Amino acid sequence: AAVCQKRKYVSEDMTIGFIGAGKMAQAMTKGFVTSGIIKGKNITLSDVSASNANPRMLQFVKEFGVTTTQDNKEVVNKSQVVVISVKPNVVNKVLKEVKEHVSKDKIVVSIAAGVPLSTFEQNLPPGSRVVRVMPNITVTVQAAASVVAPGTSVQLHDSELVRELFQSIGICEIGSEYLLDAVTGLSGSGPAYGFIAIESLADGGVNMGLPRDLALKLAAQTLLGAAKMVLESGKHPGQLKDDVCSPGGTTIAAVQSLEKSGFRSCLIGAVEAATLKAQELG
Ligand code: NAD
Repeated sequence: AAVCQKRKYVSEDMTIGFIGAGKMAQAMTKGFVTSGIIKGKNITLSDVSASNANPRMLQFVKEFGVTTTQDNKEVVNKSQVVVISVKPNVVNKVLKEVKEHVSKDKIVVSIAAGVPLSTFEQNLPPGSRVVRVMPNITVTVQAAASVVAPGTSVQLHDSELVRELFQSIGICEIGSEYLLDAVTGLSGSGPAYGFIAIESLADGGVNMGLPRDLALKLAAQTLLGAAKMVLESGKHPGQLKDDVCSPGGTTIAAVQSLEKSGFRSCLIGAVEAATLKAQELG
């Protein structure tokens, strides 16, 4: 469906580059190309290990028609949108290297967790258009949950353009930078909470006599289905829960067990712990 989605801000020939061609950059590239929002030939990725001697990178280039280089400046020069996708501790080094090449006709998008917009704005030429995005690892399956936060020098529609890009690989909302630590605590780290929930539900199934592979499939699909119902029905999750609890039935018995074990409080605490950690690192 994403292929025929109407674009308002991203032009058909928009060029985009990634500095740091790791897990996130590769997943995003794959998503952008397969959703059709960006052409592979308009994507350049640089990495310290992006040489032609790297077979995995070569395979990636062949599959998506992108260009790779070891020169970060080349990425900036060739791209209208430059995504900084190195680890947070490498950001300063990269900015120093490319800053002379960042002009006002480019948008710099950082996905580096915990690195504030001010770091970019202080280390790039005055007036540079910087946008911070907190995506999550579910970009890998084009189901990312991202939030875009604009810097102080963005131009009209820069945030919308970046949102449109990230909407091609999941959902994306626009917010303010101060929200991003909590976003990290919820959706950034959240896939891990989901993985644990799925594993535990599968354990529950196995404990009650189901074969492991069946239990795992049922657990994953059940959470996927529940999530889809929340997103697509527009109903409050509490309402959906009420709807599936028949009087004296199986589900309400399970709900009592969850409440006894502090299930809600566990999840609220998980988001709090990850948010506090993000604040501490940032
Ligand atoms: P990764 O380690 O897979 O990728 C980083 C890449 O940068 C590596 O391939 C590395 O070789 C390359 N690199 C290192 N130094 C470089 C340099 N000087 N110039 C060019 N490339 C260089 O990491 P990742 O998981 O893809 O994460 C990338 C960024 O995305 C991080 O800042 C992280 O905080 C952020 N992020 C990650 C996730 C996640 O779930 N993985 C979620 C949200 C945000």
